[in-house]
Order: sequence, then C-alpha cells, then structure tokens
Amino acid sequence: MSETTKRALVCGAGGFIGHHMVKRLVKEGFWVRGVDLKYPRFNDTQAHDFVIGDLRDQGVVWSIFDQGFDEIYQFAADMGGAGYIFTGEHDADVMHNSGTINLNVLETARRRNSKRIFYSSSACIYPAYNQEDPNNPNCAEESAYPAAPDSEYGWEKLFSERLYFSYGRNYGMQVRVARFHNIFGPEGSWNDGKEKAPAAMCRKVAMAKDGDEIEIWGGGDQTRSFLYVDECIEGVRRLIQSDWTGPVNIGSDEMISIDGLVDLVAEIAGKRITKRHISGPTGVRGRNSDNKLIERKLGWRPTQSLRSGIAKTYDWIKSQVGTGVAALPD
Ligand code: NAD
Repeated sequence: MSETTKRALVCGAGGFIGHHMVKRLVKEGFWVRGVDLKYPRFNDTQAHDFVIGDLRDQGVVWSIFDQGFDEIYQFAADMGGAGYIFTGEHDADVMHNSGTINLNVLETARRRNSKRIFYSSSACIYPAYNQEDPNNPNCAEESAYPAAPDSEYGWEKLFSERLYFSYGRNYGMQVRVARFHNIFGPEGSWNDGKEKAPAAMCRKVAMAKDGDEIEIWGGGDQTRSFLYVDECIEGVRRLIQSDWTGPVNIGSDEMISIDGLVDLVAEIAGKRITKRHISGPTGVRGRNSDNKLIERKLGWRPTQSLRSGIAKTYDWIKSQVGTGVAALPD
C-alpha cells in the first residue's frame, strides 16, 4: 500500500450491502478493512483485511481502529425483513445491539481522528401516519418529524441518525446519512428468515411449478419501492464525496404493490402463479422514496428499472435454489 492509497473501513462487511461496498471500494483503489461477526455468506470478501469481531465490544472496536481511516462506512446492524422486525420478538436485541454498535463505532472514530463517516439509516424512520394510504405515501426527508416510526428498528435508526449528526455538529466530523428504501439484489438473504420481499418472492416463484399457488403476507395491495444494490452503492459513494450534510433518501421512486411485484417476478420467470393472501407482518400500508432532495443536492437519482434489477436477482436466486445446499443456515 503506497502512502497515497486511501484507507476505508467497512463495518458490516459480511452483510449484503457491506459486501457490495467492499467490492466497489477495492475496484476504486482503496485499501479496505472489513469487519463483521461473519464472512460474506455467498462469496469471498475482496477486503484486504477482514476482521471477525463483535462491534458491540469496545475493545474489539478500538483494535480495529489501529490507525485512522479516510472513510468509514457503518452498515452493521441487527436487522432483517418484516418477519424479523415487525413481530416484536426481537425488539430488545435490535435496539440494544444496533445502538451499541453505533455508539462504539462513532466514538472510536472520533478518538482515532477519522472524520468522514457514512451511516446507513432507513425509510423505517418515517412516521406511520404518513404511510397509511398505499397510493400516496409521504417520505420526503423533512416529514420525519413529529416522529412516529412503526417499529423499534425505525426508532433506533432515528436515534442513531441524531447521534451521528450530533458528532458532526459538536466534533466537526464529516457525517453523511442516507435513508435506504428496500435494497435488493444478488448475494443477499433469501432463505434465512431475514430476507425482504423481493428475495422472498423470487424464491417462492423459483421453487414453484408452473400453475402453483404461493402465499403472500397481507392483502397484497400494500405498496413499496425497491432499489437495486448497485444503485444504492453508487448513491452512497456520491453522498460521501458531496457537501450535503443532511439526511437523504437513497431509494427508487418506482412504486409497486406486493401483488404487482409477484406478477413481475412470475412474468420474468415465465410461470403462471396464483396468490393466496395470508395474515403476516407487513409494516406500513404504503412507502415510496421521494427523490427530489437527492436530485437537488447530488444532481443524481437512481434510474434503473425495477424489472432489470428483479431479472438479475431472480436469476441468482434460481441458481441458489438449484444448488441443493441452499437451505443450510449461516
Ligand atoms: P445485513 O444484515 O446483510 O448486514 C448487516 C451486517 O451487520 C451483518 O453481516 C451482520 O452480521 C453485521 N452485524 C450485526 N451485528 C454485528 C456486530 N455486533 N458486530 C459486527 N457485525 C455485526 O443488512 P444489509 O441489508 O446489508 O443492511 C446494511 C445496513 O443498511 C443496515 O444498517 C440496515 O439497517 C440498513 N438498511 C438496509 C436496508 C435494506 O433494504 N437492505 C434498508 C434500510 C436500511
């Protein structure tokens, strides 16, 4: 590593988005250290150094910061899809684990004089009362308050956003915060109970025979938007290099109902699929990314169609289903 090589730390580098970010940073010429409780599940990491460690442990975090980093990406969190976040069974873990990680990483970055840090917040911070009409949700950045997230996961994200912004104000750290809206793509959870709707639908359709029925949580008319992971990474890279210091949505504004998502996956798979709606955790009625601010501040917004991202993701999940070892836990 030459003296001019930039150093990046990726927390949560064994997870879905962190793994993709490592690949991107290495490609851009960074020296990268990843840290996670586990290695990436589906492919080898490309990080130059990968530490298996628990970011809830202050001693571990201190040892990871053996010198300053030019850029830090904080993706580590205790999280999952609706089946993990909305049942209430994991509330204490979600709040305690993610809160502790953020407190440790941020304070250590400050002490080690690493100034530029990215934090991954979530669309789950937006108030439930603005997301009751599936056809007209409001997720503009300034609508976050008065706060009323619909999950403890969202409350922890909101607390941590404020924590990061406080360090930005009081300690002069270059804090950048994005609110991700449903990121999906290859090499993400698809069968471990933490998968999100796009991966779950791709799996169900990939495992179904032509003419089969699949189960859908809720009435199917709840709406969401989904962003392909490459666009998420592009947005984060642009944000961290920008001067914009407020929170910003990184998401797609191509809203679709859950039934519509199933139809899209079935069409891509070339299968006739019927839907059976069953009760299950669904979250808010409607959610869509509002991309006015990102366009104004970064001069960029995601543009890839949902169809193109789902096609790539479906192909990958189909290949995983075909391996026969796919049902093994982490
Ligand atoms: P992920 O679960 O795949 O990755 C998170 C990683 O953090 C995991 O690999 C996990 O092992 C690691 N981790 C958890 N606790 C840890 C600990 N104590 N010490 C070290 N590592 C620990 O999730 P993801 O989809 O890659 O999401 C990354 C970030 O983006 C998260 O903060 C998430 O809340 C946020 N986000 C994601 C989405 C999305 O749609 N994927 C949407 C909104 C926000």
